[in-house]
Amino acid sequence: MLRLPIYLDHCATTACDERVVVEMLPYFTQYYGNASSRNHAFGWKAQAAVEEAQQRVASLVGAAPGEIIFTSGATESCNLALRGISTLYAGTGNHIITAKTEHKAVLDTCRDLERKGMEITWLDVDLNGQIDLQALRAAIKPTTILIAIMWANNETGVIMPAAEIGRIAGEHQVLFFSDATQAAGKIPIDVKAAGLGVMAFSSHKLYGPKGVGALYISHRHPRVKLAAQITGGGQQQNIRSGTLNVPGIVGFGRAAAICRETMAGEATRLQLLRNKLEDALLQVPDVYINGRSSERLPHVCNASFGYLNSNEILAGLNKDIALSSGSACTSGSLDPSYVLKAMQLPDPLAKAALRFSLGRQTTEEEVAYVIRHVTQTIESLRKSSPAWQLRD
Ligand SMILES: *Cc1c(COP(=O)(O)O)cnc(C)c1O
Repeated sequence: MLRLPIYLDHCATTACDERVVVEMLPYFTQYYGNASSRNHAFGWKAQAAVEEAQQRVASLVGAAPGEIIFTSGATESCNLALRGISTLYAGTGNHIITAKTEHKAVLDTCRDLERKGMEITWLDVDLNGQIDLQALRAAIKPTTILIAIMWANNETGVIMPAAEIGRIAGEHQVLFFSDATQAAGKIPIDVKAAGLGVMAFSSHKLYGPKGVGALYISHRHPRVKLAAQITGGGQQQNIRSGTLNVPGIVGFGRAAAICRETMAGEATRLQLLRNKLEDALLQVPDVYINGRSSERLPHVCNASFGYLNSNEILAGLNKDIALSSGSACTSGSLDPSYVLKAMQLPDPLAKAALRFSLGRQTTEEEVAYVIRHVTQTIESLRKSSPAWQLRD
């Protein structure tokens, strides 16, 4: 039986997996110790659970357990990376290179750092959402301390060439930070092969609980240090103080382990469904798949519907299908997506985009329903649209 509404907003957040919840529960009521309590069994139990989670999260991305710092989410991880490195490397330089299509957690933090005296280069992207590696190379100066480029974009699913960026960063002895929140748990990530110094990701985007994130901080090749942004009890190697969120961290660990086991099969399954959806949407006139020529996440489809706007389409669909026009953090605004604008989409198409993001619960039956419902809605909205009738 098909149950409505259908959830197609997995880039905004995912349902916590039942197995994750089951593993978390005892850490609320039974094993509630403070992981920093060194003197009794409650503390030891919590500490052991945190260490196991660290191992699971680390092995999802090819890191060593000690290289994982737990935070409250990817937003905090991005802040810790950008602010922590800017502060500690202030004697070396003040220049950061990033791209115009980054998530707000990176963009707004860079903007704030710019106000405080850092110099930021905002790289353009091409029609496919890709940065120009020559432009990246050319932007590096003696004062450059960090390249901050996301692994995969949250609106379009476009995957950036992390390994090439890492190589360029390494050649110039500049640190490479990546916001991998959309990629972690969905496609293989190897922080060492990509030459990453720091990487942010989040539990709730990979079927774990909300309010937990991770920052990978490389210990060797390169050895990265950063200045703590939250000070206090000295937990987590003095990099991020505060009592550890043990149940959340345990859940994150289990979620990471499940993703690691199921990633390959899920990516194949979802890519088939996503492609089926895209092939059907492309049958409708004046529909464009944004970033289609790029390598993309297998479960994401960002489509623009000519002669319409996102909000009217969403209003026609939202009763039955939960999806968004782009990032959850910018939804509700009438401005066109800055990501699609940076990809040089004309304004009318940037304002007419929908993001379909599939996930673990998505079924073939749901996708068939979505195809029918979306194509019918587009046709009926266009019938009553003067712009559509006046097109040449
Ligand atoms: C969701 C997301 C974030 C923010 O993550 P939170 O854990 O919700 O703070 C940052 N970057 C990207 C690319 C995201 O998709």
